[in-house]
Amino acid sequence: MKRVSQIALVSLATGMAILQLSCGDATADGKKQSATGEPASTEPGTPAQPSKPVIKTEEEWKKILTPEQFEILRKHGTERAWGKVYAEWKKQGAGTYYCVGCNAELFTSKEKFDARCGWPAFFDASKHENIKTLTDTSFGTVRVEVRCNVCDGHLGHVFTGEGFDTPTDQRYCINGKVLKFVPFAEAGKKDAKKEDK
Ligand SMILES: [Zn+2]
Repeated sequence: MKRVSQIALVSLATGMAILQLSCGDATADGKKQSATGEPASTEPGTPAQPSKPVIKTEEEWKKILTPEQFEILRKHGTERAWGKVYAEWKKQGAGTYYCVGCNAELFTSKEKFDARCGWPAFFDASKHENIKTLTDTSFGTVRVEVRCNVCDGHLGHVFTGEGFDTPTDQRYCINGKVLKFVPFAEAGKKDAKKEDK
């Protein structure tokens, strides 16, 4: 039962990724795409990586994001701690985490660790060029905000020197709802849904 529902989720996520790519290409680029609107050279499961900054209007973002994703990514929102997404993140195995707004690779399971803080945590980014940090002085504190460097979407915050036993002693505290997880096994398979029954 559990396995079936996981596969259903992965299938759904893959479908959504393709849908989002189609939307993004239509509004942002509108060129060099096949007639079907799908990227020309993308392996199943692995979203095509954006080659330039992804810029959209609020209305365009609302079309491809859920209301919660829009609130987090575009309005600096924060998901509820210890939510369902955090529980799912803890159970996820080896794989890659992409930005739900633009598909840029941000983290992998190799940088993942459980900080027991109620949000997904990573000790480093897997693609540093896709991450940027800014000083955030909201709520009367000084924090370092983490954003996607490709679509400028808010991801969370990064904390340093908390004493975690990781290679960097940094904690990228990230909203799980704006991460798109693709298991390593799914990437590169010709048809993951059929093979992994
Ligand atoms: Zn992004």
